Amino acid sequence: MRGLPDYHVHTRRCGHAGGASEDFVRRALALGLCEMAFTDHIPLYFLPLERRDPKLAMKEEELDDYVAEVEALRREFAAEIPVRLGLEADYAEGHEEALSRWLARADWDVVLGSVHWVAGGWIDDPATSPARFKAEGVEVLYRDYYRLLAQAARTGFFDVLTHFDLPKKHGHRPGSPLEDAEAAALAAARESGCAIEISSAGLRKPVAELYPEPRLLARAVSLGIPVTFSSDAHAPAEVGWGYARTLAAAREAGVREFVTFDRRRKRFRPLPA
Ligand SMILES: [Zn+2]
Ligand SMILES: [Zn+2]
Repeated sequence: MRGLPDYHVHTRRCGHAGGASEDFVRRALALGLCEMAFTDHIPLYFLPLERRDPKLAMKEEELDDYVAEVEALRREFAAEIPVRLGLEADYAEGHEEALSRWLARADWDVVLGSVHWVAGGWIDDPATSPARFKAEGVEVLYRDYYRLLAQAARTGFFDVLTHFDLPKKHGHRPGSPLEDAEAAALAAARESGCAIEISSAGLRKPVAELYPEPRLLARAVSLGIPVTFSSDAHAPAEVGWGYARTLAAAREAGVREFVTFDRRRKRFRPLPA
């Protein structure tokens, strides 16, 4: 895993991560990662204040402090490892203007685009989403998810689409893959220049599988969609977590290079030997 980046890392501000932010960087250094990007969850701008769960994302008034902390870590570790300023931004249909105002608040290195909010609720909440799949139908929710993911790619707001096949998180899957819906999302990523992450987070979830699954990753690679690597760490020990499997899956899918971002400009590097 030496020479790989970790481009999806959270801080305590989101309410469900812990540890000192500099310990995440120290872990990346100890593993010999080439870069690390903090990508904390954007405030839940698309929900009214009273519906914003403090255990899901930072409060609005914490954003400036987050940016300042990452900038300070960037300076502190400048000689050792590039620390990038990123944001994991929810795409919420109909709230594009509000999102663009949030994205204008800092000079991000990388903006991750995530679809967690589907048809008026969370698609991946362990407390509520199993009941939703039962009531609303697996295929219906998957189709809406991929429709939104494609739409997110086309907004141009995002550099990387996260956890591409997120609805599988708790094991819900359509009887057979919805290849047309997947293909439309992949095509949108390719046309808009979005990368996708190969994320080890799925290995830590009930589905126990990388995001995206190998079949989808191979398809993305064959379309020429750039990839980056991520753990979705919510604790320092999760930085670079599972990367031996992640790297093996990347090789099997035909990945030869990965992308990193500097002020939202792509840089390509070969996979480490
Ligand atoms: Zn999180
Ligand atoms: Zn995340």
